[in-house]
Amino acid sequence: MKIVFATGNKGKLREASEILGEGYELVTPADFGITEDIPETGNTLKANSLQKAQYLYEKCGCDCFADDTGLEVDALGGAPGVYTARYAGEGKDFNANMDKVLYELDVVASEANMAAGMGLHVKKVSRRARFKSVITLMIDGKPHFFEGTLEGVIAHEKSGNGGFGYDPVFIADEYPGQTLADISEEQKNEISHRGKALRAMAKWLSVNSPQ
Ligand code: IMP
Repeated sequence: MKIVFATGNKGKLREASEILGEGYELVTPADFGITEDIPETGNTLKANSLQKAQYLYEKCGCDCFADDTGLEVDALGGAPGVYTARYAGEGKDFNANMDKVLYELDVVASEANMAAGMGLHVKKVSRRARFKSVITLMIDGKPHFFEGTLEGVIAHEKSGNGGFGYDPVFIADEYPGQTLADISEEQKNEISHRGKALRAMAKWLSVNSPQ
């Protein structure tokens, strides 16, 4: 079965192919001559993944899926959330995005310290955060949704050379003391938000569209 995955990221394509296994041939929008950025203007991860999958379905008329991922930091009211890819502004790199998260957490912590210094009762600032991925799979033009979450905390500083995006500042509960950029790609894929959503989709496909 041929399925189009709305990505140009080779790492994501490799991960999805491994999880779906034999019987599913994954191709990319570029294979259909779709090279423009697929619009994602929704207010939620689900809305964005649906928008991308529908756009792709309208263009190629074939079974396809799209994912959207966000980082939610509790002490920042769930930010960066849907703005994860461009938290520090359009065109800024991942370092700038991570620096902004670390800086904003420092601001919240120092505000809490000041309040404590004034004798107010304040709770310790939590660094709890999570990655969430939502996949929309379009089969015969009908959407199906799959989700995956990875719980952890935001580190106090960047660490590690692996991974991508916010990996150097995210410590998953499964690997305390190490960021996602410190652990191997295999270790990360086993626990990752995207891996969980992809495995849920693979399970659904094996039941509903078996090869
Ligand atoms: P996307 O929806 O997969 O493009 O993800 C949106 C943004 O979330 C990316 O630009 C990355 O900054 C971040 N992100 C997504 N997945 C991961 C991950 O596994 N580790 C770290 N950052 C991620």
